[in-house]
Amino acid sequence: REKKRKQGVNLLELAARFFRERMKMAEGQAARGYLERRGLSPQVVEEYGIGFAPNDWEALKRHLGEQGISEAVQVEYGLLIHREDSGRTYDRFRDRVMFPIRDVKGNTIAFGGRVLGDAKPKYLNSPETPVFHKGRELYGLYEARQAHRQLERVLIVEGYMDVVALAQFGIRNAVATLGTSTSEDHLTRLFRMVDEVVFCFDGDRAGRQAATRALETVLPLMIDGRQARFLFLPEGEDPDTLVRSEGTEAFQDRVTCASPLSEFLFDQAAAGRDLARIEERERYASQVLKALARLPEGVLKSLLLSELAKRTGVEQARFESLLAVPDPVAA
Ligand code: ATP
Ligand code: MN
Ligand code: MN
Ligand code: MN
Repeated sequence: REKKRKQGVNLLELAARFFRERMKMAEGQAARGYLERRGLSPQVVEEYGIGFAPNDWEALKRHLGEQGISEAVQVEYGLLIHREDSGRTYDRFRDRVMFPIRDVKGNTIAFGGRVLGDAKPKYLNSPETPVFHKGRELYGLYEARQAHRQLERVLIVEGYMDVVALAQFGIRNAVATLGTSTSEDHLTRLFRMVDEVVFCFDGDRAGRQAATRALETVLPLMIDGRQARFLFLPEGEDPDTLVRSEGTEAFQDRVTCASPLSEFLFDQAAAGRDLARIEERERYASQVLKALARLPEGVLKSLLLSELAKRTGVEQARFESLLAVPDPVAA
């Protein structure tokens, strides 16, 4: 099994090298220009190992074939697509800027590829393979750890370009989930390395929904003084566009001012509600209680309960007894 993993990792490393070399050649000119227009220096491109998949149905297949790698293995690791109907095989990634996804040791385990223009899909990821499980991996985590002797906090962003653009501006602690929502597995892994995560999703509806889901996911993990904070970007911005328009310092200031979990939790429950009305205050309290039910026993939970009591004018003991019922909200 270990031998198999090695074989896969070797193959993916060969592919990564192939993509990097192709970007340096004449056919990679458009990709180099694209990255330059997006503000990336050759150093950052190199650090993240970004490359280019040529506009060819079989370029990688031929290259790997010459190294004696079977088509079956290339299919297994997501580089080749096998069409059942025609029996043909062809390169999955064509005419795309290629971002290698690395594990914590720096092994390439998958790729994300972006079109240079407006074609769809904008991003294409490797499928699940024996070495790549989407809900687990975080793009940029290896590079973030390389850049810091002791990583203290991590910014969780949506996209590859957000991670790389922030690195370009010297902010080297961002990681991205790979087009999936932040999972408990992602957070458990991060909290083994850092005590603080800052969610920093796009300033759009999808980004705000992602923050709401992230809050739910992180609640059960809030133990031992761990911190989770939420940074909301102006409408239409993502970390990439924002850091490029306002620079490192202004972006860092936003990170410093990001809302702590407690603040986001109360703000979110209050949003759109007229708390002068009893029924709305009831929904407000129910929503907060529902979140508190997910929180482990501890100081944070006690403090939030007493805050809720203060804000609603209901005795804390009443809320505590509601929480003691298995599902306080449904009850
Ligand atoms: P860019 O700045 O390059 O246009 P982005 O990262 O801002 O891209 P978003 O549309 O905000 O793109 O999407 C966030 C992330 O979600 C992407 O970086 C990518 O990981 C993932 N994603 C977006 N579109 C797709 C897609 N069509 N298929 C798979 N993943 C996608
Ligand atoms: Mn978006
Ligand atoms: Mn973007
Ligand atoms: Mn975006």
